[in-house]
Amino acid sequence: MSDTVVRVEARTNAGRVACPGCGCWSMRIHGSYLRFPRDLPTAGKLVVVSLRVRRFVCAEESCERKTFAEQVPGLTRRFGRRTERLRSTLVSVGLALAGRAGARMTGAFKVPVSRNTLLRLIASLPDPAVAAPRVVGVDEYAQRKGRVHGTVLVDVETRRPVDLLPDREREGSASFAAIEPSRSMNSLR
Ligand SMILES: [Zn+2]
Repeated sequence: MSDTVVRVEARTNAGRVACPGCGCWSMRIHGSYLRFPRDLPTAGKLVVVSLRVRRFVCAEESCERKTFAEQVPGLTRRFGRRTERLRSTLVSVGLALAGRAGARMTGAFKVPVSRNTLLRLIASLPDPAVAAPRVVGVDEYAQRKGRVHGTVLVDVETRRPVDLLPDREREGSASFAAIEPSRSMNSLR
């Protein structure tokens, strides 16, 4: 342990683990290795978990995964370099502050990550379940002032954007426009 890093040593002890490919239980250990997921800091120090995980053999012949590594629910995920609670904290910062400001805030938390990493974490979130919109409005959006680049479909009831279409696909949205065209569509032209 150095002055700036707290290292937490952990290992699993479940007697059997379900294969993520086929769901069959396995007790046959193939080997083990160390993972070092970063965790939330404590007392201003970086925290690294030194986690020994085991690789199991899947006995199900039809399964594509001959071996698989165990995961610790709530702590790790496949290929994850951070604990789940550090990950969810970074996602919260990203959702509240987005790229640059969020990245600066993670530095203040002593878990600095780049703007791109924050955005990648947000992009990997599962899409929220959204009901199919009943009434869709059509509008145009410009990325640069005065220059129209595309068309945005908006759920009129929730006022949330449904989709962005490049300018060349606008003809495809004619049927939506017939449902409830927004006033600004003509005024922008
Ligand atoms: Zn399997």
